[in-house]
Amino acid sequence: MLVVQKYGGTSVGSLERIESVANRVARAREEGKDLVIVVSAMSGETNKLIEYAHHFSKNPSKREMDMLLSSGERVTAALLAIALNEMGHKTIALTGRQAGIKTDNAHTFARIESIDTTRLEEEIGKGNIVIVAGFQGINEDGEVTTLGRGGSDLSAVALAGALKADACEIYSDVDGIYTTDPRIEPKAKKLDHISYDEMLELASLGAKVLQNRSVELAKKMGVKIVAKSSFSDAEGTVISDKEGESMEEVLVSGVALDKNQARVSLRGVTDRPGIAAEIFSNLAKENIVVDMIIQNASTDDGTTNLGFTVPQNQLEDAKRVMESFDHDLAGADYDESVAKVSIVGVGMKSHSGVAAAAFSALAKSGINIEMISTSEIKVSMIIDEKFSELAVRVLHEEFGLDK
Ligand code: ADP
Ligand code: ASP
Ligand code: MG
Repeated sequence: MLVVQKYGGTSVGSLERIESVANRVARAREEGKDLVIVVSAMSGETNKLIEYAHHFSKNPSKREMDMLLSSGERVTAALLAIALNEMGHKTIALTGRQAGIKTDNAHTFARIESIDTTRLEEEIGKGNIVIVAGFQGINEDGEVTTLGRGGSDLSAVALAGALKADACEIYSDVDGIYTTDPRIEPKAKKLDHISYDEMLELASLGAKVLQNRSVELAKKMGVKIVAKSSFSDAEGTVISDKEGESMEEVLVSGVALDKNQARVSLRGVTDRPGIAAEIFSNLAKENIVVDMIIQNASTDDGTTNLGFTVPQNQLEDAKRVMESFDHDLAGADYDESVAKVSIVGVGMKSHSGVAAAAFSALAKSGINIEMISTSEIKVSMIIDEKFSELAVRVLHEEFGLDK
């Protein structure tokens, strides 16, 4: 039996924690399992490295950022291997490159293109526990790349898929997927099971517990994920395709919050064909991810107002792009103090009134909704950031998720 286990930043956040993970891995080994262990950097480490880079440059080269950021995972991989070897378990630590992980060229948010499992299989064959530094690979020129924040989840799922592992266990400081972030709503309930689609929405809408691209890949490759805690032996949450059962009954299965949102409001935009296309294609060229968009009906003077949201860390880039439209705009306002709160559930497909219930629940608590977007299985609302936690709790209660 081959198991891929991934330990996140908090799970390896100190030498004591690495020791505790080593004990957990040793236990699995003693049960006779073949093991590939993916590790994150110690918690806070990646942020610290980013700060170091910004000490020298506002806009550091992305290639060098990857050189820098990939080092955090290398440290924990080696330390865990050293600890396990000391315990008498043959273990080898590998970088992303040594583990055969090939990516495209998009430094700092690269996509995995393929995994050559030769070396991994060789090491497993020799009886080694294999530790892989998460969050990294190499591109076709042999340059180190990283996979975007939270990317060790993606490394683990991709390795589990490529090795056809029997299980992919993702360990963090929560013992599974909850109806909402249990740090915000202590009444949140743990789910035994959640479908890929629901998990993908929750992750994409801000639930950091799993990186969204890892869920996307798991769905594509049919990798069953189990989300567990490295701090307890509690049963986790299974993320896989749901087989019929209760699919119709659950209206809303979770609430997600994303504070990493900023709003751009453009006033007096020239109302001519092609202007929106120009604005959004220029944003796309800079790899800026535009989320919600609102355009008002045009006014008598032949202009219109246009609003959209971008991730907070891309606001400066967005401002730069907007400057090039000076002649087509009366003005632009930027607001970082907005948040996106979302409800997710496959049951919404076959029910009406879910969005209306969400809107009135927020209204009753005096929370103004600034933008809305919906899909078959989610409703997202942009609100003032100061109401974030309140909105999560109100929606959690409205849809009976605490029951
Ligand atoms: P790691 O560092 O191990 O990758 P993360 O910090 O990325 O772990 O993810 C775990 C955190 O995700 C939890 O501490 C929790 O606060 C947060 N979280 C957000 N939404 C949820 C949810 N719906 N269920 C469980 N945890 C959630
Ligand atoms: N260390 C990286 C990050 O903090 C990757 C990860 O932890 O998954 O984003
Ligand atoms: Mg994470």
